[in-house]
Amino acid sequence: MVRPALILHGGAGARRERNYDQEVVHMRQVVEAMQARLVAGASALDVAVETVVMLEDSGLYVAGRGASPNLDGEYELDASLMDGATQKAGAVAALQGFKNPIRAARAVMDHTPHVMLAGQGAARFAARQKLDRVEDPDNWFTRAGKGEDNHPPGTLSHGTVGACVLDTQGRLAAATSTAGVFGKMPGRVGDTPIPAAGTWADGHAAVSCTGQGEYFIRIAAAARTALSVAAGHSLNDAAQATIGLIGQMGGDGGLIALDREGRIADPFNSQGMKRAWLDTDGRIVVRVFNDTPHA
Ligand code: ASP
Repeated sequence: MVRPALILHGGAGARRERNYDQEVVHMRQVVEAMQARLVAGASALDVAVETVVMLEDSGLYVAGRGASPNLDGEYELDASLMDGATQKAGAVAALQGFKNPIRAARAVMDHTPHVMLAGQGAARFAARQKLDRVEDPDNWFTRAGKGEDNHPPGTLSHGTVGACVLDTQGRLAAATSTAGVFGKMPGRVGDTPIPAAGTWADGHAAVSCTGQGEYFIRIAAAARTALSVAAGHSLNDAAQATIGLIGQMGGDGGLIALDREGRIADPFNSQGMKRAWLDTDGRIVVRVFNDTPHA
């Protein structure tokens, strides 16, 4: 039996002037809850979805309940997930009206022949799947990104949640969910719902990205990292190289990654990245700022 591991993030938009005490407590609670699930034998895919659901429901991060609206005042949410054991994937883009976009992404994977549904088609599908609706957006969404969204217009400031999981059978999975960048144009879709860009899992690594999605899409950031591991690089080197490239292009953000040995990487080039992990020795660590590589 493999010793399980997990890493989650609450976005790389963290700002030094803001206090994250609530998020730190919450991230630890989520990791503890998911540690129990993994020890009980839950699959990496189920735990990745459940982790993201807890992050979406909290209203503390810019995903699910914590979402911010687009320039027209609408809440268009993106999410995706990928199962490393089967390389099956599911995604929704620009989904309106539902509390948990990651559950919609899971349903696309499980109940359609497709990988991604977008816009009204995604919403009609989510309704048929009887997923929980947002009845009153003005009172439901918490706009958790206040204090992280104060960059000049056009700088693509952001927030997202994600998870990478290794289960006791040695399977990897990744899931990511977001409201996208602040002040985005209606219809804008970032990296989060695009397998290979914002989310990836295969037999070698699981990756979930956060940052200015326009850059992550252009270098297939999540898949690039995992494929580099498959080619023989260490997880940490592969992850650092991806974020290095994002930085060279002028982009900002970070990623979390986990390999099949349970090694963890969490590089970012933004001020901070909310994140927490469970390592294979059962230790739980929570961080927002100080970057530390994990070889
Ligand atoms: N990557 C997300 C996007 O571009 C935003 C984020 O991670 O904060 O939509």
